[in-house]
Amino acid sequence: MLPGAPVGCAAYLVTAMTITHDLAGFLQTHVVASGATLEEIEKDFSDSQVPEQPTFVSDYASFLKDTLVAQSVHTASPGFIGHMTSAMPYFMLPLARILIALNQNTVKVETSKAFTPLERQVLAILHRLIYGFDDPFYSRFIHDSRSALGVFCSGGTVANITALWLARNQLCAPDGEFGGIANEGMFKALKHLNCEGLAILVSKRAHYSLAKTADVLGLGRDNLVLVDTDDNNRVDMRSLRNACSRVENENKRVLALVGIAGTTETGTVDPLEEMADLAQEIGCHFHVDAAWGGPTLFSDTNRWRMRGIERADSVTFDAHKQLYVPMGVGMVLFKDPQAVSAIEHHAAYILRPGSKDLGTHTLEGSRPGKAMLVHAGLNIIGRRGYELLIDQGIERAQQFADMVKAHPDFELITAPELNILTYRYNPAWLQHKMSTARPAMVEEINRHLDDIVVAVQKAQRAAGKTFVSRTSLAPARYKGQKINVFRVVLANPLTTHAILEEVLKEQQEHVSRLRALIVPLRELAARA
Ligand SMILES: *Cc1c(COP(=O)(O)O)cnc(C)c1O
Repeated sequence: MLPGAPVGCAAYLVTAMTITHDLAGFLQTHVVASGATLEEIEKDFSDSQVPEQPTFVSDYASFLKDTLVAQSVHTASPGFIGHMTSAMPYFMLPLARILIALNQNTVKVETSKAFTPLERQVLAILHRLIYGFDDPFYSRFIHDSRSALGVFCSGGTVANITALWLARNQLCAPDGEFGGIANEGMFKALKHLNCEGLAILVSKRAHYSLAKTADVLGLGRDNLVLVDTDDNNRVDMRSLRNACSRVENENKRVLALVGIAGTTETGTVDPLEEMADLAQEIGCHFHVDAAWGGPTLFSDTNRWRMRGIERADSVTFDAHKQLYVPMGVGMVLFKDPQAVSAIEHHAAYILRPGSKDLGTHTLEGSRPGKAMLVHAGLNIIGRRGYELLIDQGIERAQQFADMVKAHPDFELITAPELNILTYRYNPAWLQHKMSTARPAMVEEINRHLDDIVVAVQKAQRAAGKTFVSRTSLAPARYKGQKINVFRVVLANPLTTHAILEEVLKEQQEHVSRLRALIVPLRELAARA
């Protein structure tokens, strides 16, 4: 034992308790974030020297408390309703410590043992939630080393990459002389398929991770075809069909159709059933990106919204969003457990053929045993608990949409289908004027409103009391003109009606301080 270790341990324990205590204080006092700007904070992180001398943990803890924790974002605050980063159930904190103490590496059984069957069990539970096959199916595949019901990864991005990696390798599988794209690369694969490219088709509401996917899989971002949506932000089936024909006329192959179950910006769900029909008709892979919306399947009341998801060849499901697990956990599930052979890799010292090492089919190498946290959530919260969270989120979003509609200063832009909605500042008197104004005037008013939305969102973020995010959309109401909107994600069960009222009230106050933007808008409107 190192001299002084017991003293060090005691100091560590005391410090750890202090940190936890301070953290608890932080969680109670800070509303969303401190008022410091990022540029000011950067000054605390500007030394690029390797720290030469060791520092006492207690000294380091003061840095943590005053500089880092105090200036982080309180994502658990019920007034933080702008992003998909959720609040944590209290039990995740001690469990995460156990996970770090054990430091398992799930790339192989030799460094994870029970964590390997645990991870496979979690995948089976979510596979069953989506596909609902029978007991014999799951008894056969749950722990079968030659197959996988899905894979764990760090999040939705890697899940989407993995799903389309599998689709790509299946379409370009070894065939006669051709050794497969995994061995021979894209150029030979296209020659073999006698075409000039492989395309992924998805609505223009797609998450940007699909552009990364097209890039890293060697398809090229130009071959990610973004298809128009209908007035409800769902993929327009006629446009999708036309896009498929265009791809074929360009002598390319449709690699996959991607349906979105809960778009990042508007929370809408594509017509998955019709997309499945089309994918079947053209014989391509059907992937569903349910990173956000997947847990809707827990709800007896709302699961119908996911209809058709069970026909997907692969499904992305993020645990660090609506399963309320800490950052860094996503999954992709495969309908056919044997499809995974398309992305299998082996190495001599681990991952030997026939081994149960999970690393044989993950894009990532060394990986933490975070399946434990998903397992904990599934057991401690249970289907009923998740159902409650989902149902309440959807109800709360409908309530907030009603509040926005009834408010004289705001305009609802996208009504919620799940628990996400968008709106903007646009007072009723102005909306009234816009309904009869010339198109050029409407466009100009929209540009003024855009500036106000940005200024309000920034002021609200800087004040640190409540937080909404912003994005831009092109609603049919404004003939496809892109406008800036506030985006609200309602996944924190502690966000009350009163807090939502507070958000609108605060935004109204910020608007009233924007005289430099409001005065010209009033002048403009007077001419309308
Ligand atoms: C969040 C999200 C992703 C990306 O997931 P990460 O976990 O951030 O990598 C992909 N698709 C959709 C629809 C998402 O909402």
